[in-house]
Amino acid sequence: MPGETTPAPAETRPAAPETAQSPGDRGRTVPQPHPQSSPESFGFQVHHRIDGGLGRTGTITTPHGTIQTPAFIPVATKATVKAVRPEEMSELGAQAVLANAYHLNLQPGTDVLDAAGGLGAFMNWPGPTFTDSGGFQVMSLGVGFKKTISMDSSRVADDTAVAPEHERRAFVDDDGVTFRSHIDGTEHRFTPEISMKLQHEIGADIIFAFDELTTLFNTRAYQEESLERTRLWAERCLAAHAELTQQRSHRPYQALFGVLQGAQYEDLRRKAAQDLGAMEVAGHSFDGFGIGGALEKENLGVIVGWVSQELPENKPRHLLGISEPEDFFTAIENGADTFDCVQPSRVARNGRVYTPDGYFNIPQAKFKKDFSPIQDGCGCYTCQHYSKAYLHHLFKAKEMLYSTLCTIHNEYYTVTLVDQIRESIQDGRFYEFRDQALTRYQGRRG
Ligand SMILES: [Zn+2]
Repeated sequence: MPGETTPAPAETRPAAPETAQSPGDRGRTVPQPHPQSSPESFGFQVHHRIDGGLGRTGTITTPHGTIQTPAFIPVATKATVKAVRPEEMSELGAQAVLANAYHLNLQPGTDVLDAAGGLGAFMNWPGPTFTDSGGFQVMSLGVGFKKTISMDSSRVADDTAVAPEHERRAFVDDDGVTFRSHIDGTEHRFTPEISMKLQHEIGADIIFAFDELTTLFNTRAYQEESLERTRLWAERCLAAHAELTQQRSHRPYQALFGVLQGAQYEDLRRKAAQDLGAMEVAGHSFDGFGIGGALEKENLGVIVGWVSQELPENKPRHLLGISEPEDFFTAIENGADTFDCVQPSRVARNGRVYTPDGYFNIPQAKFKKDFSPIQDGCGCYTCQHYSKAYLHHLFKAKEMLYSTLCTIHNEYYTVTLVDQIRESIQDGRFYEFRDQALTRYQGRRG
């Protein structure tokens, strides 16, 4: 119903630090520990498993609520899912959102988010939040390769395939990365310690270790060197995280996920999973793991499977940045518990909508007088109130409402698909559901 929203998850918005005075303080304010400041405030429980697969259902517990997994995590890069209000995201079923530390550091600055009481409070999203470390964006500035998993390694395999020196905006050394802002060209530096500090100030429930992203074009020798650098950075992230957790006990606990690289190499991927799975620094081990880096679509399942076999069973695994609905089944079957994907909102703004029967493009002339919804029977707000003809008109007229309505549909479609996959695992019919859904989805391309 217009204007009506489902209440967001339990109100646990972090308050401003409480202060107290003891006789010894002589008026100095001392922040009190937050009731959810210990690592025990984060957890993961496995419920059901896919027969003969590595996939499972579970519950991730965070200080801002729970996430039923597998779950799709919509992307709110700059603390907003573009064009859609947080209340609408909650209404369409999103359980958590993922923002980006690189972007939020440059704008508005992590000090602003810290003063606001953290990302969730700042953006009026009371549920769980993630930030990725910024490594991906920083490294992308440096090498100028495609941002998706659809890189073709058969085409070239050479360290020189990355952008020429004069086009590079980022340089990696053993201590960190120096880069120029994409906004104003100013020089910045990320190290593991800086990434941890920024992500603690942003205050998301789940944060990621700073890693070096390689491309499938890098040589095997470079992949090995880079993987070792990422391993050493992971240790430094854990050490910095342990210190910040102690220093910032007035804030809810933030779970740190280690990020696994290793490109397309089985031995490197397995080694990364073993190393980070067993890593412990200053009494802290990783609370979960991110599967990152260059993944070709055709190898996605195999690579996720390798690391899932090596990682501790009782910790969640997040697949960083995948693209198409087909990939969700593969990722989940092979052990991914959560994944983010900017695609549903990005393609919506360009005119593409997803349905169980495939995707199509709203700007096509044939929709000019089509007064049916995007998808018959769809439970989303857009399909319940608007026709393809109206959306077609809004797109052609470049009206802002177009982006809002189509993003709502695509995010609803994606969240709901992953909810259905979760239910199919619970009911022991994952493979049956997958085959039916993919046959239907791939049967039509408009
Ligand atoms: Zn819809």
